Amino acid sequence: MTVRTRIAPSPTGDPHVGTAYIALFNQCFARAQGGQFVLRIEDTDQQRSTPESEKAILDSLRWLGLDWQEGPDVGGPHGPYRQSERGDIYKTYCEELVEKGHAFHCYRTAEELEQLREGLREAGRTSLKPSDLALPEDEIEKRRAAGAPFVVRMNVPEEGTCVVGDMLRGTIEIEWAQVDAQILLKSDGMPTYHLANVVDDHLMEITHVLRGEEWINSAPKHKLLYEYFGWEMPELCHLPLLRNPDKTKLSKRKNPTSILYYQRAGFMPEALLNYLGRMGWSMPDEREKFSLEEMLEQFDIQRVSLGGPVFDVEKLSWLNGLW
Ligand code: GLU
Repeated sequence: MTVRTRIAPSPTGDPHVGTAYIALFNQCFARAQGGQFVLRIEDTDQQRSTPESEKAILDSLRWLGLDWQEGPDVGGPHGPYRQSERGDIYKTYCEELVEKGHAFHCYRTAEELEQLREGLREAGRTSLKPSDLALPEDEIEKRRAAGAPFVVRMNVPEEGTCVVGDMLRGTIEIEWAQVDAQILLKSDGMPTYHLANVVDDHLMEITHVLRGEEWINSAPKHKLLYEYFGWEMPELCHLPLLRNPDKTKLSKRKNPTSILYYQRAGFMPEALLNYLGRMGWSMPDEREKFSLEEMLEQFDIQRVSLGGPVFDVEKLSWLNGLW
């Protein structure tokens, strides 16, 4: 089996150091095992995605010396790796789920959803289930005939525990009671992250998904989608989030988070990459300064510590001085 990893940034702003951190670990994991690293642009949020942002992300990753084998600019057998150009693929797969009874058209209006959520809060529940959203058949027919907008939602269990494997955490357990009947296709026909991500990871033959821990709560939905489609799920690895020195989630109020900032301020790309390599990971001999090639030679994902890596511009400035 060829190991294949990917990063899937959304081009909705300046290139973020967190994207480069995830890219670095994906590249190291794949290449250390003779595998391939794929870049996919997740631009299904048409309001917020821009070509300028996509270009800036690609340019910044290249500036850092990161190198993907398949992606929007280098092509590949499953291209073009821009989700906005793959709408028909997601629709086809979504219809398959509806036909198999794993997903349903939901005609609930925004006001009704608000009321339903209010009812849940009062009942001390957290998630909307298919049974909450159900409408009488004749009402569905009426809305359909009137051309009312609808979304497609996935069926989810009402209760029980979902157990998902994680390369760093062993297993993750999440109660199904926490999981909504997730929207898969929006009323404008665009897929949500969950549908597009699972379909693409499958079609692009991704074997290992290394992503930030903010996606842990998505894992049950993804596991279920793989089951519904009858596909093998890639191995999951949720990397620890970058933090400010005070341990809060990395934010631009406390640290510059745009790669453009470091580029313009004259930082060495090698130094920034070196620093990102030290986010939760260390060389076996604990040395501070190392190149991408050296990191590749020594890379072992099991050496990632979950302790909340701190990204501190002052420490980075010091490391930059060594280059
Ligand atoms: N588009 C998501 C992001 O920008 C991708 C998450 C994932 O890797 O699954 O973080």
